[in-house]
Amino acid sequence: MADDRTTAALQRRSLDAVWHPCTQMARAERVPPLPIARGEGPWLFDFDGRRYFDANSSWWVNLFGHSDAGINAAIKQQLDTLPHVMLAGCTHEPAIRLGERLSARTGGALGHVFFGSDGASAVEIALKQSFHSWRNLGQAGKREFVCLRNGYHGETIGALAVTDVAIFRDAYDPLLMRAHIVESPDSRLGNEAEALAALRTLLAERHAHIAAVILEPLVQGAAGMVMHSPDYLRQVRAMTREFGVHLIADEIAVGCGRTGQFFAWQHTLLDGDLASAAPPQAGEAPVGGSSPAGERGGPPSPWPDFILLSKGITAGTLPLSLVLTTDAVYRAFWSEDVTRGFLHSHSYTGNALACAAANAVLDRFDAGQLARNAEQASQLAEAFAPLAKHARVAHLRQQGMILAFDVVDAPAGFAEAFHLAARRHELLIRPIGRTVYVMPPYLLDANVAAWLAAAVRRTLADLFPESDVD
Ligand SMILES: *Cc1c(COP(=O)(O)O)cnc(C)c1O
Repeated sequence: MADDRTTAALQRRSLDAVWHPCTQMARAERVPPLPIARGEGPWLFDFDGRRYFDANSSWWVNLFGHSDAGINAAIKQQLDTLPHVMLAGCTHEPAIRLGERLSARTGGALGHVFFGSDGASAVEIALKQSFHSWRNLGQAGKREFVCLRNGYHGETIGALAVTDVAIFRDAYDPLLMRAHIVESPDSRLGNEAEALAALRTLLAERHAHIAAVILEPLVQGAAGMVMHSPDYLRQVRAMTREFGVHLIADEIAVGCGRTGQFFAWQHTLLDGDLASAAPPQAGEAPVGGSSPAGERGGPPSPWPDFILLSKGITAGTLPLSLVLTTDAVYRAFWSEDVTRGFLHSHSYTGNALACAAANAVLDRFDAGQLARNAEQASQLAEAFAPLAKHARVAHLRQQGMILAFDVVDAPAGFAEAFHLAARRHELLIRPIGRTVYVMPPYLLDANVAAWLAAAVRRTLADLFPESDVD
């Protein structure tokens, strides 16, 4: 039996028994998955005693490192109390507290939480809630969705329909509902005005048929860490209000402090916005008109109509996703008629263990995590700044704890070659196309940031020895 746990044996067994995600399994025969024995802090350890720095936080989920004692303790305590109970007809405190605390973080603007499991299920929920709320308000014709060029929202059939990443989408295109894809803003192109104009043209023409715009605020992750300004988002918010269309902020990747605020959307808020975002008084009747959010009198809320969280919300321990929405959307379902309700569920909706982990994550933010992130983000910036002069590096860019650059003249197969070369430098990193990025756990200090930048540089030198000059 002992032999079954060598790296080679585990690779063989995995290839025989496990169908790996996002992987052409024929290729995996040649580049087999790396068996990981354990994780501690930012490090992952293989079965040969080698370690790897988890530079992409295990697909963007891990916030505080692996096997974090505080998160683990919260899960263990919940495990001995109530691991799970269905959330239809029952409720439990971890879900209630989590909903209350997230609502408070929006100043009450998004005061209703619906739970899913993975990110894609949150996207499905938001699309359904948007459409169904319009339908309940007598606007059943609003059934189209708008997404951004190169945007990514997950890979179930509904989420894929609003995803514009060809390699994930093309095979299934015949199955997908048609969405409108509009130009995306990209700091490398300086095209925010054009992107806004394209959206305005579409909304002006189709708004009677459009339920919602969905986007990734500030950073389009899977597109290759494509960044845009908060001002673009403010303008999209104003425009969607003007045309009576919902706005869905998919913060599955960028939420939970990744960009420097708890919600990426908070970068768009101006002084005083939080106060003006107070929800309408309880007891007010839902409007039957085209007003998409809760503003009946008073300034319009600067928040989106939906915010989606997943990935970091349990700090990389358990699957959980959630959809936060407004009183206006919630009230559109409020009726004696069962079929006007949101009859959606997943078996593990609001899983208590996952909610306990999420509450432990919020405890960190209550205890000053954002200030630590700000410091770590500047250490990251400082460590990587010299790379801007590297002949192969273009568009070095950063938003909080996401740092990326594009590789000039990257050869075919670059991403895999870089990934494999990096392993020799104790670095687990997966470029997207020609974009190299780090999205590390929130555990940096100046030394670790310097080590990380040096490891990236050494990997570049392996691939492009001729370019390694200062
Ligand atoms: C990862 C991701 C999703 C999908 O989440 P899964 O948990 O992988 O289903 C959706 N939207 C964005 C922006 C993501 O980064």
